[in-house]
Amino acid sequence: MKRVLITGAAGFLGSHLCDRFMAEGHHVIGMDNLITGDLRNIEHLTGLDRFDFHHRDVSQFIHVKGDLDYILHFASPASPIDYLKIPIQTLKVGSLGVHNCLGLARAKGARMLIASTSEVYGDPEVHPQHEEYWGHVNPVGPRGVYDEAKRFQEAMTMAYHTFHGLETRIVRIFNTYGPRMRLNDGRVLPAFIGQALRGEDLTVFGDGSQTRSFCYVEDLVEGIYRLLLSDEHRPVNVGNPDEISIADFAEEIIALTGTNQKVIYKPLPTDDPKQRRPDIARAREVLGWEPKVGRAEGLAITYEYFKGLSEEDLRKTEHKDFTSYSK
Ligand code: UDP
Repeated sequence: MKRVLITGAAGFLGSHLCDRFMAEGHHVIGMDNLITGDLRNIEHLTGLDRFDFHHRDVSQFIHVKGDLDYILHFASPASPIDYLKIPIQTLKVGSLGVHNCLGLARAKGARMLIASTSEVYGDPEVHPQHEEYWGHVNPVGPRGVYDEAKRFQEAMTMAYHTFHGLETRIVRIFNTYGPRMRLNDGRVLPAFIGQALRGEDLTVFGDGSQTRSFCYVEDLVEGIYRLLLSDEHRPVNVGNPDEISIADFAEEIIALTGTNQKVIYKPLPTDDPKQRRPDIARAREVLGWEPKVGRAEGLAITYEYFKGLSEEDLRKTEHKDFTSYSK
């Protein structure tokens, strides 16, 4: 049994990782400041012997009693509207937060895995994106707070690896979806499904020709688990290369939900990447991993989850009063 610290434990990915490590028989210590996370995502774990939860902000000094074998740093706002609302928190959790985790990992002799992102490639000029591509990021644009925090996070993690000999792992996560996404986080999948459920038109930004490649959360968690246990310290893309335009994706959601609403077009947000698809050759080679769940199957499961939410969740436009949180 390993002792594992997961930051962002009450979030979408963090909570699924908690489930996986619990299922593998490990002791999980979840940490979250609950700004974008939700305790309901882990309420089935609270009270279990092998699970502890600390309501803590990882951007401040953190301490955990006892041994730690693994630290997974997953705390971060993760949607473009969150970065706009809490840009400084986003920068802090990617920089100060990762530094605190790395310091803790060093003190405990733990292996550290960080959640990086396809956003390190920015609006990519290389397609599909392989790990050797350095990216095309606007540091002063609205997404820069996330992209640059994650790029700093990778640099800091590599520095701890080379300078302190820390065991580190870097996963670059491409658009992931599944149950427990926040319905109102502004990302395209919950946005479209929420609109369909509320009987609103689906808002496609730009002309809808921009592409994304969506990975079901269970596949992602499997890739992360394998990476953690591997010897690979270089960044590894984990995502599903099945690429689709946002206009076609809207049509898929219309077909899935049976809504009789239509697509309406809104301006494309600043610096919105035009294309995104992971090159997963490295993940195939070093992890023996590739995604198993196709979009039709994954979307059906995710739609069932969103349908089960309360009317209150469906109508809520703000998850939290972000403005009350100190910068
Ligand atoms: N998007 C859209 N309508 C929405 C929300 C998002 O057309 O209501 C587009 C967005 O402009 C982007 C894509 O969908 O091109 C994916 O956006 P998301 O915020 O999910 O993630 P990103 O990959 O941009 O970080």
